[in-house]
Amino acid sequence: MVRLEEHKTEAENKAIEKMPQPSRVYIPLSQHLGKICSPEVKIGDSVFVGQRIGSVQAHVYAPVHASVSGKVTFVQDWPHPALGRCKAIVIESDGKDNNSRTYEPTNLRTEIGEFTPEKIKKIVLEAGIVGMGGASFPTHIKLNPPKPVDTLIINGAECEPYLTGDYRLMVEKTKEILQGIELVARCLGVKQIYIAIEDNKPEAIKQFGVRSSQFLVKVLKSQYPQGGEKQLIKNILGKEVPSGKLPFDIGIVVHNVATVFAVYEAVYLNKPLYERVVTVTGSCISNPKNLLVRIGTPIKDLIDFCGPLKEEPAKIIIGGPMMGIAQFSDKVPVIKSTTGVLLFNEKEASFNEELPCIRCGACVRECPIFLMPTLISLASQKELWSQAKIYGASDCIECGLCNYVCPANIRLVQNIKRAKLEVIR
Ligand code: SF4
Ligand code: SF4
Repeated sequence: MVRLEEHKTEAENKAIEKMPQPSRVYIPLSQHLGKICSPEVKIGDSVFVGQRIGSVQAHVYAPVHASVSGKVTFVQDWPHPALGRCKAIVIESDGKDNNSRTYEPTNLRTEIGEFTPEKIKKIVLEAGIVGMGGASFPTHIKLNPPKPVDTLIINGAECEPYLTGDYRLMVEKTKEILQGIELVARCLGVKQIYIAIEDNKPEAIKQFGVRSSQFLVKVLKSQYPQGGEKQLIKNILGKEVPSGKLPFDIGIVVHNVATVFAVYEAVYLNKPLYERVVTVTGSCISNPKNLLVRIGTPIKDLIDFCGPLKEEPAKIIIGGPMMGIAQFSDKVPVIKSTTGVLLFNEKEASFNEELPCIRCGACVRECPIFLMPTLISLASQKELWSQAKIYGASDCIECGLCNYVCPANIRLVQNIKRAKLEVIR
């Protein structure tokens, strides 16, 4: 693991600001790992905030909901931050924010205290909650692991530079996150619960330390990629997730803080996942912010809201600088897994020329999964997929550290990602 320049100061003290609702939203039918949803509305239909507008019969999926009230104007292919393009439902807002959900009496604490795990899981599924740290795995499935688990880790590490949305949530919504943790723990039947926070977030550590007696706050060194599931498990419990296995195989489940907050909102407020906190920052942005944004808002609206631009961005990234995805259009919408929008200038965005490998071993030394990135990358370039598999391509967590340390500027992660796709296929 390495210590990266954090660039958190730009936005970390900016309280979460509710962004005005957009005039139009583009809600992709795929915002999760699993089967793409089918539209449940057609052009001309009126919708209200929180209405389910897409779903599918499948095991691994998460339904999608309208984030504004108004009229469905199109169902069409649209730029997508992770998939390139994807079918999206376009809703023209009527500005009324009509919301037909009832908030009572389900938000009575005593009643919620009696909810069974089955009932909570059903609410989480119906709310369309997915892993909001970037993974997008449907949360209701993670609440129902195929093997018994005894430990829950809440991931508040937020180890990617620039991103501060989870930090703001932890500081501003501590009580709600703790209520969400209790719901998740009830579903999993776990007794041992850790909240993992990096030491560069003293205010969040203080808040959780003071307010949570049942859970253990684990303060971790600020280093990258501290927030990876496997790294958290190793650093907190000293356990390793074997190659090809998942945390539940060793009795552990990890959930991100924003996901747990969404669980709280779904159960206590009867609110589906139709908005989230997004950090908008980077050298080209004059007013970095942490925004509460409706899902489906084009990132151009976020950029304009944080403007004016200091200079024209040469690169727009959705997510963090290490694991995020460079975008080809500012029309892409915010989706459930959008943690940040970063705008970088020409100098920061420039690519250095790729040189031959000098066999320095830096990528091997730094890989947190103990892979040999250079060998997997070579196998990928030569399309030797069985070789890439033997080298453990599918265990790569795509943290980007090998790229970061390579003095020859070899695009190792890009090659490894390709091999991963071929190996898993
Ligand atoms: S091989 Fe994968 S896990 Fe290892 S450093 Fe590179 S991106 Fe990270
Ligand atoms: S860090 Fe780059 S130059 Fe060094 S061994 Fe790995 S691929 Fe080769």
